[in-house]
Amino acid sequence: MNFGVEQTKKWMQELNQRLQLQKAYLTELDQAIGDGDHGLNMARGFQEVVYKISIIDYKDVGSLFKDIGMVLLSKVGGASGPLYGTVFLKAANEVKGKESLETKDLAAAFTASLEGVKMRGKANLGDKTMVDVWEPVVAYLQGDQVDWDTFISLAKTNMENTEQLEAKKGRAAYLGKRSIGHLDPGAVSSFYFFAELAKVCKE
Ligand code: ADP
Ligand code: MG
Ligand code: MG
Repeated sequence: MNFGVEQTKKWMQELNQRLQLQKAYLTELDQAIGDGDHGLNMARGFQEVVYKISIIDYKDVGSLFKDIGMVLLSKVGGASGPLYGTVFLKAANEVKGKESLETKDLAAAFTASLEGVKMRGKANLGDKTMVDVWEPVVAYLQGDQVDWDTFISLAKTNMENTEQLEAKKGRAAYLGKRSIGHLDPGAVSSFYFFAELAKVCKE
């Protein structure tokens, strides 16, 4: 695998495109159990990311991740801005100065991201948040063999499993049991995040 600056930029472009296409869907999901802005937050945030990173010539993935994190942190409100911002800032710290990443580097980076998200949001597995996608996916990435199609399926299955969960964190937690029967919006955007990453890693 060769995952460098070019691949990271491609990932961000593809993810942004998918978020723009799914903006209304993510909004609809958040209307059911939140405040209806997740599509808007993600679409705006990653559009800003793509603008910012396209005009800069990065030498290493760490500095690129850092800029992505800063854009998300400064341009996106709500829970998702700081959480996805943390994802990239923590990852940046792990891959500082690296021009190309191996699967084990991605694993280390996202392990740090997940720790950061959990520290910031205090959510655990089963609380019906993005952590329900992140935790199993990161665990799989830490293994010896990574098959990217399996990786995508794993992210998808765990995203779908959030439907049956009762929310314990975030706005959806105010609904208690009434949150059951709806997908978690952040789990769905996290599925896109990992699915688009895997597509680039497969190439
Ligand atoms: P807000 O809820 O502030 O309007 P968004 O709608 O953009 O922010 O994002 C909501 C998503 O953020 C949720 O679907 C959930 O996945 C994630 N989320 C919310 N709170 C937390 C938390 N404490 N820990 C982890 N993820 C969270
Ligand atoms: Mg919301
Ligand atoms: Mg909001």
